[in-house]
Formats: sequence, C-alpha cells, structure tokens
Amino acid sequence: MISRLFQLFKKRSLGCPEVRALASDFMDGDLSKRVSSKIESHIELCAACAAFVRTMRATVQMLSAMPRSTLPPGFGERLSERLSGERGQ
Ligand SMILES: [Zn+2]
Repeated sequence: MISRLFQLFKKRSLGCPEVRALASDFMDGDLSKRVSSKIESHIELCAACAAFVRTMRATVQMLSAMPRSTLPPGFGERLSERLSGERGQ
C-alpha cells in the first residue's frame, strides 16, 4: 500500500508550488533531465508558471546585464587619506 502510494507520488507530474520552488535551479540548469523535462511540460500547460519563469528569467538577465559597481583601485586609500587630511586641518 505504502509503496504503491510512493509510486503514485513519483509518477505524478509537478504541481505549481514545486515548479516555482525549482524555477531558479531550472534556469541555472542545475536539475536532472527528468525533473527539468517535467517542469517544461508543466510550463507548456500552465500559463501562470510559464509567466513566473519568464519574469524570473527576465529579472536575472536584467541583473546580470547591469554593470558591477566596483570601486576603482586605490579608492579606499585615497578616501582615507583625504579624510585624515581634512581632519588635520
Ligand atoms: Zn503551474
């Protein structure tokens, strides 16, 4: 009985909460082929999850396209020099 339930659980397709929980791993390609194909087939049938993944993907792309705000080399030293100079005046 229990093993039968387990089989059922294994075979059933993914639900919306599972798809959304796995969405970021799915985009990173961190999931096994079996799981990601389950997600793909869910997305084909479920407009809400398709939109969720699309939005998430667009957000990730936007963030990775943004220039990284790193400080120029030596900036910290110049800043502290200036600060200590001003303090001495
Ligand atoms: Zn869904």
